[in-house]
Amino acid sequence: MTLQDLASALADMGLAKSFVITKLQRLELEARLHTDTLGLLRMLMQIAKTKASPRISSFPVGAAGLGISGNVYLGINIEFHSTSLNQTLHAEQFVVCNARMASETRITDISVSAAPCGFCRQMCCELPESKELKFHIHGPLLSTSQTLNTLLPYSFGPEDLGTKQTILPATSVPSCLLQIPQGKCRASGAGKRHAAGVCVEHVHCLLSEMFSFWK
Ligand SMILES: [Zn+2]
Repeated sequence: MTLQDLASALADMGLAKSFVITKLQRLELEARLHTDTLGLLRMLMQIAKTKASPRISSFPVGAAGLGISGNVYLGINIEFHSTSLNQTLHAEQFVVCNARMASETRITDISVSAAPCGFCRQMCCELPESKELKFHIHGPLLSTSQTLNTLLPYSFGPEDLGTKQTILPATSVPSCLLQIPQGKCRASGAGKRHAAGVCVEHVHCLLSEMFSFWK
């Protein structure tokens, strides 16, 4: 099966611009394309990569995360003019925030087009059962599947601070994140910084801007 087959199937199903694939849609795509879940994740990641907006680095990244619900969450890197690279939304961050906005409670696998950077490894370290999270890296220089525990040994996470709170909801409940006003970064003021240092609200603000960007 080719990426064009997947693109055609996504178009047929009205998913050409969607960044969330439900479990039922995923199963239909796997049946149509005669592939398994990891094979589909890899292809979806490659499709997502074409939508990246690396205006500063010119380095597009795509990612596709599998939730414990069976849904798939796509992500791309977004860079903004007139900002620095530390204001970039990374593809893995996009996946995590996308999952959180859908009230996903755990991510089990992430297929990505380049090895995750240190910041994304730390952010993913703050996901539920993060040590078991598996990264499937399909880059031009590297192709491997590794757990986050391997990619980030001797990590520092929520458990080190005696909390079980993670950056995904403990139960599948409606997300409050959609209430964040577009264009206003609460993280720059009194925003909450997660226990181990990842400022999730700032990432959410970037995602909010991104959705505005795509309209
Ligand atoms: Zn990153």
